[in-house]
Amino acid sequence: MTSQPAPAALPADFPRGVALLHDPLLNRGTGFTEAERRAFDLNGLLPPRVLSMQEHAARILENFHKKPTDLEKYVYMSDLEDRNETLFYRILIDNLDTMMPIVYTPTVGQACQQYGHIFRRPRGLFISARDRGHIADLLRRWPNDDIRVIVVTDGERILGLGDLGANGMGIPGGKLSLYTACAGIHPSTTLPITLDVGTENPTLLDDPLYIGLPQHRLQGEAYDSFIDEFMQAVTTRFPDVLVQFEDFANHHAFALLERYRTRYRVFNDDIQGTAAVTLAGLLAALRLIAAEGGPRRTLAEQRLLFLGAGEAGVGIADLVVSAMVAEGLSPEEARQRCWFVDSKGLVVRSRADLAAHKLPYAHDHAPLSDLAAAVNELRPTAIIGVSGQPRTFTRAIIESMGCHNERPIIFALSNPTSKSECTAEEAYTYTNGRAIFASGSPFPSFTLYGKTYNPGQGNNAYIFPGVGLGVVVSGARHVTDEMFGAAAHALAEQVTDDDMAAGRIYPVLSRIRDVSAAIAAKVAEIAWREGLATQPRPDDPERAIRAYMYDPQYTPLV
Ligand code: NAD
Repeated sequence: MTSQPAPAALPADFPRGVALLHDPLLNRGTGFTEAERRAFDLNGLLPPRVLSMQEHAARILENFHKKPTDLEKYVYMSDLEDRNETLFYRILIDNLDTMMPIVYTPTVGQACQQYGHIFRRPRGLFISARDRGHIADLLRRWPNDDIRVIVVTDGERILGLGDLGANGMGIPGGKLSLYTACAGIHPSTTLPITLDVGTENPTLLDDPLYIGLPQHRLQGEAYDSFIDEFMQAVTTRFPDVLVQFEDFANHHAFALLERYRTRYRVFNDDIQGTAAVTLAGLLAALRLIAAEGGPRRTLAEQRLLFLGAGEAGVGIADLVVSAMVAEGLSPEEARQRCWFVDSKGLVVRSRADLAAHKLPYAHDHAPLSDLAAAVNELRPTAIIGVSGQPRTFTRAIIESMGCHNERPIIFALSNPTSKSECTAEEAYTYTNGRAIFASGSPFPSFTLYGKTYNPGQGNNAYIFPGVGLGVVVSGARHVTDEMFGAAAHALAEQVTDDDMAAGRIYPVLSRIRDVSAAIAAKVAEIAWREGLATQPRPDDPERAIRAYMYDPQYTPLV
């Protein structure tokens, strides 16, 4: 039993009365103690009974479970976040298994689709094409100067759902909730931003309740200069900030990352976060096979076949290549182990229609029209679905993977669940339970012939909060690929013997704060070693990282 922490010294302008109840970062509602009610003029403004945090949480959970749909659960939790962030984060942290699919994928996808219709109150900043030329003025309106993490989207490629324009705001908000829940970044130091540059979505353009600008997207130079202005203004206003790019379409995402990665403290989660969580899954799958008495194989011995050659696929392949190079292959040999099928078939050198980011993976091979042909011909050890196209891992393809491999690795990563390339049940059933399966959105456990399988969720939330925490604590000036590689290895190492015995290739979510702290330590160490850090290395980095992590409690105020 730990002793109660001492009351913190409060600033002179600490709010009182109704103002205190209306401040979501400070409000505790019926959780204010009698002494606090007296000290802050709350008597009469609250019902007399004081509830402990546990009682308070129990009431919220009771109501949460009564909500008939996931979308209503999402709205209910958003309302709680607007009223009492301390309680919101306590409940999120203590019930991550239940809450993650509500505050993030898949439910957040539905919420974005309906955003204009369920809209209650704004969170974060909306910066629109109309604000060109004075973005800096807009940023000055944000009340907190000490912002450490921003997640920004332009809404053009929300999950696998396409262009949702300003409705994409659900994504930066959801991701930042995970920064706080999974890595303890204090919510007051986070800021979600949507860049509303228009939309090409005809349904939204015709929807009278659409919250964004009902106009077509900025293109070309107008778009580029708008983003340039934003990046310059945001890093001037918040010099310590880490900017995470989220759900930009791939024709912008790669270029923006290249343009900014050595100028600012930025990364793209769809490219780099996805890459790290998938690499971790592959490394853990190899550990699992060896732990079961199977052959001890290295990553460099694998042959990967991707369905979908966009941000996620190419990002994963690039990181896998650097990990294979670290195992001794040349970059060319490593790239030869990664193959892609896109909407036009196998990515091969003779094709004239390939975007620049696919060229390094365009190998010498006869054209093949589809994934089934490619699986039969190339005999991959792993197939990785990042196409946004549901049901494309057909029974024949899964059976063929099972024919060529004792333990076929099948990752169906497209989000949300409705876009998954196959279900967990299909992967296990068509391989007689031999598949090592992971998905982007969660699938429930599945029992086949009396054995229960626990499908892994290759959720980026295992990676980006820990990477962000390491960058914030070290003050790293840039976020490097080496940091994502280290994060992937750290995540794979966090898979315990118990996890593997249960067939899991990712740690249980209840351990995610430990996982994030371990990742942060590796990332920060790289920043200190490579001269990228702007913060001094503490004597005990792990302890310093733990101390930085916000733990939502009703710490006594008086
Ligand atoms: P993207 O738009 O950049 O790329 C999609 C790619 O799929 C493109 O190359 C496109 O040509 C290809 N494609 C489209 N139709 C196809 C078809 N019928 N057959 C083969 N290829 C086809 O998108 P992205 O950022 O790469 O994301 C793709 C999917 O991956 C999304 O559904 C997203 O939700 C998911 N994703 C999952 C995770 C995760 O699980 N951790 C992380 C990021 C992205």
